[in-house]
Amino acid sequence: MIRFENVSKKYDDGTVAVDSLNVEINRGEFFVFIGPSGSGKTTSLKMINQLVPLSDGMIYINGKQVLDYDIYELRWNIGYVLQQIALFPHMTIEQNITVVPEMKKWSKEKMKKRAYELMEMVGLDPAIYANRKPHQLSGGEQQRVGVIRALAADSEIILMDEPFSALDPISREKLQDDLLHLKNQLKKTTVFVTHDMEEALKLADRICIMKDGKAVQVGTPFELIHHP
Ligand code: ADP
Ligand code: ADP
Repeated sequence: MIRFENVSKKYDDGTVAVDSLNVEINRGEFFVFIGPSGSGKTTSLKMINQLVPLSDGMIYINGKQVLDYDIYELRWNIGYVLQQIALFPHMTIEQNITVVPEMKKWSKEKMKKRAYELMEMVGLDPAIYANRKPHQLSGGEQQRVGVIRALAADSEIILMDEPFSALDPISREKLQDDLLHLKNQLKKTTVFVTHDMEEALKLADRICIMKDGKAVQVGTPFELIHHP
């Protein structure tokens, strides 16, 4: 589904952020990049949707080189969740969730149905939340919207960069549980970046441990625990 083939990234200042990375992420898999700060996790993630251009090697999505995709098509079709929530402040929660479906010209009914369905899945009652503005939500609730917004357009692939790290421990655990629930229902190909091993073990189908831009170990949580 997503294949990194000898992928390297050298930034303009000479920093080698990713060094000959070979990783294969399967369809429907929840794949976690874990490692210390600066180990190349975010760079690896951003090369998938070409927010960061590759220096060497190639990434293939469904067998096609990322460079052969139209960049807008690529970004529209890949959901992206960041640590800093970036909801549109002047739009309602429902409108925020349906930004990409709107661009894709879904019907009003289909968008509403989708937004309500997703809000219910993460425990945000649409009767209360659909017409609120982001500032009327707590940080955890906003982040929940950020997560379901990335899922709204039925993208095949979702990228998540430390989506919960700015939250307090309780909201964080609640959102991890929500995500686990969404994961089991939706079976999206998800690439998730974290530096929290507990979070990785809880969510991942497979984990890639990064160090100095290299993958030092790849395996299921079971394999990593039993053959560390
Ligand atoms: P992680 O997500 O594991 O913290 P990053 O991929 O963000 O790692 O960064 C990997 C390395 O690349 C770090 O040394 C970081 O400082 C460097 N880096 C990240 N972005 C840039 C950039 N835009 N320009 C130069 N160096 C960068
Ligand atoms: P994120 O983790 O969301 O990528 P960061 O705070 O790491 O955000 O980086 C913010 C911006 O600064 C990004 O555009 C990133 O590429 C850039 N950046 C990160 N590390 C470096 C670095 N060592 N040198 C130059 N730019 C960097």
